Amino acid sequence: ILFFGGLSAVLIALQWSGPSFTEESLKGRRVLVTGASTGIGEQVAYHYARMGAQIVITARREHVLKEVVKKCLDLGAQKALYISADMADTADVSRVVEFAEEHLNGLDYLVLNHIGPSPYRMWDGDLDHVRWLMQVNFHSYLHMAVKALPRLEKTNGSIIVVSSLLGKMCSPYALPYIATKFALNGFFGSFQHELAMKQSNVSITICTLGLIDTEAAMEKIKGYIDMPAYPAHEAAYQIIKAGALRQSEAFYPWYTYYSTLFRDWFPYHRDQVIRMVYKYKP
Ligand code: NDP
Repeated sequence: ILFFGGLSAVLIALQWSGPSFTEESLKGRRVLVTGASTGIGEQVAYHYARMGAQIVITARREHVLKEVVKKCLDLGAQKALYISADMADTADVSRVVEFAEEHLNGLDYLVLNHIGPSPYRMWDGDLDHVRWLMQVNFHSYLHMAVKALPRLEKTNGSIIVVSSLLGKMCSPYALPYIATKFALNGFFGSFQHELAMKQSNVSITICTLGLIDTEAAMEKIKGYIDMPAYPAHEAAYQIIKAGALRQSEAFYPWYTYYSTLFRDWFPYHRDQVIRMVYKYKP
């Protein structure tokens, strides 16, 4: 306890010595949020709206997006528009970025957050599903980033990638999803190096989230694992804040940071704990 307490104090002190976040700094900023019809993406849209940003949101279900846009305008968004699109379709991916850049007259933040539905169970060997999920959860992220990069360079812009502790730690029951998150961390983590070496003014923030209480996540893990879920609106706020501060990484909740830090210290015990925590229902 003393060790973790001391470490936390040092890390908090280090954070305090950096630039501080003001919601005001996001007023009028032009933001594209993917996967914003529900869950964390929806909450991200509401926070940006409350801070007076100009937002384009996207997902597949038009009737849900319409409702989210309405709420964003009520909350104070300077502008809120939606475009329905399927990230499995490469033409849709391009169309979304073009729509946002045109209607917002530029782009400051690209928040990559969507995920395609994927079963939560032991892997059944379905390779087609892995390929499809790679397109939705991984290739479309790269495609959007590369398409938006020229505009982001003009505005000192930022790419925010919503990832997971499952992109850093191997676990059972969500193999295709986990593979896409490892791929994202590998790609965007390496891309951070290349942009820094080229002295690009575009920042990339990779967000490592633990279990968050979205409807989709709660439904999936029911009966498989018992652990506290943290609120989606707080996760969304931390994502926005880390992006605005141009942090290379963000962790929410606190345990994701320590899990990443100590992941490889005791691999045998780590794996035993993981296999104990997840219930197996043959
Ligand atoms: P949800 O399942 O609640 O939301 C997923 C979003 O993606 C929805 O808006 C959905 O809308 C959209 N979407 C699904 N398929 C497609 C598609 N083919 N094309 C375009 N959009 C699509 O997810 P969460 O809010 O729980 O998760 C958000 C992010 O947070 C993800 O990146 C996830 O990996 C990460 N995360 C979440 C955790 C959690 O416990 N919740 C834990 C760790 C990370 P629609 O159906 O209308 O298309």
